[in-house]
Amino acid sequence: ARRSLARLQNLPAQTRCGFQVELQSNLELPFELKMIAESGARGIGLLRSEFMFMNRETAPDEETQTRIYQDIVEAMDGDPVTIRLLDWGSDKEIEALSRYLPETPEPNPALGMRGIRALLQHEALLETQLAAILRAAAAGPVRIMLPMVSVAQEVIQTREAMRRVWRRLKRRKNLKLPENLPPLGIMVETPSAALAAPQLAQHAEFFAIGTNDLTMYTLAADRFSPGAVKLYDPLEPAVLRLIHLTTSFATAAGIPVSVCGELASRPAATPLLLGLGLRQLSMHGNAVPRVKQAVRASTLLTCEQLANEALSAPDAETVRALLAKAQEN
Ligand code: PEP
Ligand code: MG
Repeated sequence: ARRSLARLQNLPAQTRCGFQVELQSNLELPFELKMIAESGARGIGLLRSEFMFMNRETAPDEETQTRIYQDIVEAMDGDPVTIRLLDWGSDKEIEALSRYLPETPEPNPALGMRGIRALLQHEALLETQLAAILRAAAAGPVRIMLPMVSVAQEVIQTREAMRRVWRRLKRRKNLKLPENLPPLGIMVETPSAALAAPQLAQHAEFFAIGTNDLTMYTLAADRFSPGAVKLYDPLEPAVLRLIHLTTSFATAAGIPVSVCGELASRPAATPLLLGLGLRQLSMHGNAVPRVKQAVRASTLLTCEQLANEALSAPDAETVRALLAKAQEN
């Protein structure tokens, strides 16, 4: 079985009926890079930049960040790298930052200052990271992604910051810069982002659905709460409807949309995601071969029937049974 999974690396991620699906990998820690390069993934759909800020005394400066991004972009050898701006706050505690940028403790961290909200409050942190990413984009295709977006204004303000940083970089001598600004896109991981997708699509150049946070915020259930974890399930039809809405709006607006939450790593959910309209998935590097296998075993018509049934199912349990039945066939 291992050998047949390895053989998959060079086979196309294509359904039985001939549709191409783009499989990319998430990257959380740099040591995963080798495994990702060997997985058959075509690029990085989510680079979680938090690791750069961990286990250190101060935030990394522009040069340090530029080198780290450059190395990753070069290792991906022409495949796109989607760099997510620092997603700090809530469950992602970062010691160096809380030491230098102390925040008032919040009663509800998941609903407080995190992700793009926190970055927009800390301009120097945002601008340093943007400068490093823009410089690294000279080494290969890069996309910039905003975490935890809830309203369009956050995208507008970040784009202004990006343009400001770009003008500044252009005035500096001997800097290698890309010809154009990289695409700026957003994570769709709050119900408001999913519901306002048509408005957000006017400001964002791509969407990546983060099913981990989207599940938490939709069901108002924390997966780390022993009492509420029972409710936390990305297969809840309410979550699936938001995924479907986002995908349909993005497709209508003509912008790329992917899923990069844990759900994309589950081969059992692959036919469902294809049926909901997704053609781009980003996952753990080690999940790529099995998800590719699931893509190659699928036909879109069957996937769409499955998705329709799942969307009108009464609960996650029923959806799970539908997925199990689909796997048998
Ligand atoms: C998500 O929320 O689904 C996601 C991909 O982001 P993270 O897991 O880093 O919060
Ligand atoms: Mg998230």
